Amino acid sequence: MRIKDVLLYAVFIVSCSSNNEWDYMVFTQQWPQTVCDSVYEEHKCAIPKDISFWTVHGLWPNRQGSKDEPSYCNKTWAFDEKLIKPIETNLDVNWPNLYTDSEKTEFWQHEWDKHGTCAASLPALGSQFKYFSKGLELHQKYNATILLARAGVVPSDTCNVNITNLYEGLKSQLGKMPNINCYWNKKKHTQNLIEVELCVDKSFSIIDCNSNEDTNLYFSSKSERMKVPHYKTQKLEFGLGETEPCRPSELTCYPVIKHTS
Ligand code: 5GP
Repeated sequence: MRIKDVLLYAVFIVSCSSNNEWDYMVFTQQWPQTVCDSVYEEHKCAIPKDISFWTVHGLWPNRQGSKDEPSYCNKTWAFDEKLIKPIETNLDVNWPNLYTDSEKTEFWQHEWDKHGTCAASLPALGSQFKYFSKGLELHQKYNATILLARAGVVPSDTCNVNITNLYEGLKSQLGKMPNINCYWNKKKHTQNLIEVELCVDKSFSIIDCNSNEDTNLYFSSKSERMKVPHYKTQKLEFGLGETEPCRPSELTCYPVIKHTS
């Protein structure tokens, strides 16, 4: 083999090898109304009658200082609904699949395959039962519906949420900085609350989330001063329908849940 080929082979091996290590987790809750509003072009989506609160999206291992999170760490460790039977009715309510064009277990299967198989390297999350139970436990302990209400933020169709105040309200309750993500509705030109992310260490204690630093959106710990994110103009103009840190400059919608049928 020529030296050039050897080098190319080495680059190929390095780029194929995955790093499954992680040091903290992002626990994400989602607002069902905005989720359904955001996927109307791709999915059938409906909010079950008994749900009018923030539900679990996922519990995701992450690496400090890296944009690249571990995923799909064990492709042979298949999701098995039997293993979560004892908590399934709880999951149906608090970690529901809102997309009605897929089986209810597909969402859990996706979360397990992509994130759970990586989380499982921590003994406390070392089985499907433990992983999903921890998501439910965190949801109960740090219920976003309650956290937001205590910060004076409740659903309304008037789009009057001030993001800076919301960050302050959540930070004062948690003692740590969360991430708050929004969906930009390009038809209505409105910013909509979609996710609240809390970061936890390997003992499940809350820590500061710092991914908003990437977009320069954070309170500096000394002055508690909000810095304005620099978004790409394209995102501001067209809104790519992606979930992004909420822009403090926009008054934000927290739409009331609408149950169809
Ligand atoms: P991640 O892949 O990082 O775990 O989460 C993002 C994915 O979750 C997106 O593809 C989004 O469409 C999906 N998602 C969010 N909410 C739901 C849901 O209620 N059901 C299903 N099946 N997927 C969802």
